Amino acid sequence: MTEHNVSLRNLNTFGLDVTAKVLLRIGTLDELQEVISDNFRKDEPVLILGGGSNMLFTRNVDGLVIKNELSGIAITHEDESTVTICAGAGVSWHELVVHCVNQGWGGIENLSLIPGNVGAAPMQNIGAYGVELKDVFHSLEAIHLKTGELRHFTSSECTFGYRESIFKLGLKGVYIITAVSLKLRKQPQLDISYGAIIQELESMGVHSPTVKDVSQAVIRIRRSKLPDPAKLGNAGSFFKNPVIENAQFEGLKKSYPEMPAYPSDKKVKLAAGWLIEQCGWKGKVVGKSGSHRNQALVLVNYGGATGNEILQLSEDIMRSVFDTFGVQLEREVNVY
Ligand code: FAD
Ligand code: NAP
Repeated sequence: MTEHNVSLRNLNTFGLDVTAKVLLRIGTLDELQEVISDNFRKDEPVLILGGGSNMLFTRNVDGLVIKNELSGIAITHEDESTVTICAGAGVSWHELVVHCVNQGWGGIENLSLIPGNVGAAPMQNIGAYGVELKDVFHSLEAIHLKTGELRHFTSSECTFGYRESIFKLGLKGVYIITAVSLKLRKQPQLDISYGAIIQELESMGVHSPTVKDVSQAVIRIRRSKLPDPAKLGNAGSFFKNPVIENAQFEGLKKSYPEMPAYPSDKKVKLAAGWLIEQCGWKGKVVGKSGSHRNQALVLVNYGGATGNEILQLSEDIMRSVFDTFGVQLEREVNVY
């Protein structure tokens, strides 16, 4: 379906009211191939949109927006201990988690309730509660936006990193991901060591948890801590947690012995939310936007803020964290 000069307000979780010159909702691969070859002739810029839960729009889109709605979940391989499933890029991520949890397949229960679609999950190697997409990733299919070539990517070809992949770096805007395959366990190995999962399971009265219990615990924690985008515009964590050299951390620890820190590939990961909070931003309202009162890392639109106002707020936060700690924050959200 083609729509012209359409508002994207309901298609991004910040609720930013920008306009797309053309919006196309694509439901099949054939349709997609046709649109790509047609658009190649016109040479219009293309923006791919999933659930819009990791986007900050600062301007109208003067080109084509493809809303990826490729559906379907299928088993592609199965043996005694594992099952490989392939999901269309337009499937809601949480719907996929619920599907797998209901079968008792383990691996993505800690990633429950992450907004957005399957196709965007590899973009930043989504992660939460000690698990990342790469831990269960098998492969993906993507189509080159200029040539229409269908390509298969293995995990190593995606070069997953901390909230990173090749699709956010060297291949940014080059491919549209059409399907993602995951390899899950039939005899799950639960990871409940992170944060409040154990306490939440205890408060649920669960002593021998199943994948479903862990998923429920994660959902309960997330609902209690994070603002619901349907009620308060946001895109989750606005910044990545910075990973710094050990030497810099040793210096910081002398001035801030209570600073939370976690080992990360021979370096040290700091909690961006803590750094922002120490700079006095937590709960602060600036015009129509602000830093959320429960989680400083989440910037929110209190209603009617523009993308540029939120971008400016993020720059002010980055400057004050740098001036205080000498640590450079990096945005996780995709700015358009
Ligand atoms: P969009 O926002 O639509 O797009 C994001 C980027 O991917 C854009 O650059 C877009 O062009 C590109 N893109 C989208 N689909 C495709 C495709 N099929 N092919 C190629 N490019 C594509 N993230 C986490 O990692 N962990 C969390 O725990 C987490 N919690 C969140 C909580 C809340 C309340 C919110 C609002 C967000 C949270 N996020 C989290 C961020 C976000 O949900 C994820 O990054 C999610 O994967 C984005 O999916 P999306 O479909 O909404 O992508
Ligand atoms: P939290 O539990 O309050 O912890 C704060 C930060 O410390 C997190 O960002 C986390 O890093 C880090 N951390 C805590 N315990 C850790 C451990 N045992 N090992 C390594 N790192 C640890 O965080 P929260 O805000 O409530 O979020 C809970 C989880 O959901 C986190 O994994 C977070 O990434 C994820 N989440 C992500 C988004 C997003 O938009 N990206 C939004 C909401 C929640 P990590 O972030 O690296 O895990």
